[in-house]
Amino acid sequence: MKRELERLRDLIRYHEHKYYVESEPEISDREFDRLMEQLKAREAQHPELVTPDSPTQRIFDGTLEGFKQVSHKVAMLSLDNSYNFTELAAFDERVRRSLGIDTDDIEYVAELKIDGVGIALLYENGVLVRGATRGNGTVGDDITPNVRTIMSIPLKLQGDDGLMPPSLEVRGEAFIGLKEFERINREREEAGQPVFANPRNSTAGALRTLDVMEVARRRLDVFIYTLSHAEGLAVETHSESLKLMGRFGLKVNLTTRVCRGLSQVKNYCDEWQEKRHSLDYATDGVVVKVNRLDYQQRLGQTSKHPRWAIAYKFPAEQATTKVLSIDVQVGRTGAVTPVATFEPVQLSGTTVKRASLHNFDEVRRKDVRVGDTVLLEKAGEIIPQVVNVIKSERTGEEMPFEAPTECPVCGSSLVKPEGEVVTRCVNSACPAVLKESIAHFASRAGFEIDGMGPALIDMLVDRGLAKNYADLFKLKKENLVELPRMAEKSADNLLAAIEKSKKVRFDRLIYALGIRHVGAFAARALAQRFGTMDELLSGKSASATGLLTSEQTALSEIDGIGEIVAASIVQYFSVPGNVDVIEELFDAGVEIIYPEKKAASASPFSGKRFVLTGTLNSMNREEAKERIESLGGQITSSVTEKTDCVIVGDKPGSKLDKARKLGVDVLSEDAFLEIIKADIG
Ligand SMILES: [Zn+2]
Repeated sequence: MKRELERLRDLIRYHEHKYYVESEPEISDREFDRLMEQLKAREAQHPELVTPDSPTQRIFDGTLEGFKQVSHKVAMLSLDNSYNFTELAAFDERVRRSLGIDTDDIEYVAELKIDGVGIALLYENGVLVRGATRGNGTVGDDITPNVRTIMSIPLKLQGDDGLMPPSLEVRGEAFIGLKEFERINREREEAGQPVFANPRNSTAGALRTLDVMEVARRRLDVFIYTLSHAEGLAVETHSESLKLMGRFGLKVNLTTRVCRGLSQVKNYCDEWQEKRHSLDYATDGVVVKVNRLDYQQRLGQTSKHPRWAIAYKFPAEQATTKVLSIDVQVGRTGAVTPVATFEPVQLSGTTVKRASLHNFDEVRRKDVRVGDTVLLEKAGEIIPQVVNVIKSERTGEEMPFEAPTECPVCGSSLVKPEGEVVTRCVNSACPAVLKESIAHFASRAGFEIDGMGPALIDMLVDRGLAKNYADLFKLKKENLVELPRMAEKSADNLLAAIEKSKKVRFDRLIYALGIRHVGAFAARALAQRFGTMDELLSGKSASATGLLTSEQTALSEIDGIGEIVAASIVQYFSVPGNVDVIEELFDAGVEIIYPEKKAASASPFSGKRFVLTGTLNSMNREEAKERIESLGGQITSSVTEKTDCVIVGDKPGSKLDKARKLGVDVLSEDAFLEIIKADIG
């Protein structure tokens, strides 16, 4: 079993690496999920075999009490900055003078400077044991549980054991990709929370939070760029160390280039100043490092910066343009957002025509009017934003924007809940809301219906073929072939895709409903807590008839569900129409696939009797007792035949002997901790 588990873990690690590090997945998300389910199920049967580097152990579900401080083995210095080629040339001069080299052929490594947060990772015998922030450079915070949620950080390194140094410290930049950044801000916008100014802010905030689930939700990524300490490894150049780290399975940036002399460095900078806009992450410059490590050593450092490296910052890009109109968009949750259309203008490599003005308060605060000249900037190099109005350019012809009181699509009155910044259309039959919610329903994390794109959804809604998402399962071939640009073949394909999607995993179904604030994580938590749709529905409909508050409390006690989310779920199921549509789904043949019962939901502790002996290092007895009880187990004081397991700390007493005599299972503290962590799913 142990060998089999390790084989399965290695297989999952391999696919994690393919997907998150190489971005070249070999299997579908579904197949990957299936492997994970398999591993979880087997580990639940054999909790004693769960190891901390298992792919199931990424997320510690709970709140941390705080961060311990840790000292870095080698100080994490910040880099000196340069803002133009003259300053870069001065750096090259200094380097060559110090090294006594006249020719212009020093080897540099040029790499993109990622707009994120520096972290240090410590691996012991190939297993990730610590992740820390830079802090003040010598002392940072231990943020290991948060770092473990980053999928592109291997919990276990690859490569043959012969080469693996016993201790390896690497550094890199944690960041949030631009698509994820947009998603996070869109969700915050819809939830009425302030948006992040740039990906760095949201990354820094995520790494500092004590709520590990929240970190996982932000889906951080990483590039590793320094091998700061490797016991017993002889490396001569920085570029060599990058290759080595790549071989270990660490994610290094493949855009990095070895440059001979300053002119090649300049070419790299010029090239990426343009090309960076095609990347899925924000970069604000280039880091230039002397390649030879012995040179680096000779050059040394000042009190703040290394003398062998410098950051070259791309010039900041802004543009001015005219506001042609301000329109109003309605999203899936009914959130109404003002959007400005501009005279097209070039900004950081793209043509900008539109930008969200976020909400009506924001428009008022900035006093953006139709006809105004505005200053645009890209937040985090991606999302165009109005910085301010250039009021000196006003002619008096500008039209102040009047916030609508009615939905521009369906005409029903808009609602702005007390204390929220977002205005909403609350008509669930509003075509705008309907289109967005069908798109969400059919999306990859939901029913995953291939071919159900926005253009098709527009037609289905506009022609009355889809009045809710359950109608998707009632579509007939004769309806589809009448649609423009819909050939017989594509109609068949679409119907096949719809048919295939009818078998749906429970959590995906919950996600697909589009309940406000219920993303994939909360959906999974709900699926696990309630087990079946009937229970979820009965739990909820009871709440609609007066038990609302207690139901809300029960919900917010589920890990991963906060009070706002709980209130939103209760609200959703209290609308009879919502429940009716769910019933329609089943009438149309939708079938829920539940995970194998035992595997995912049963805690290895439930119904079991435990005895503690000796001193635990990680917690006192009272805490251990609470943890065990919260997982459904119970603590008794003496070992008998009825005892299921004895947990052994330091200096165990006679209870251990007795357990051995009676043949009762014995668990070390480490194994115990692993099981607690494993019991998350
Ligand atoms: Zn509407």
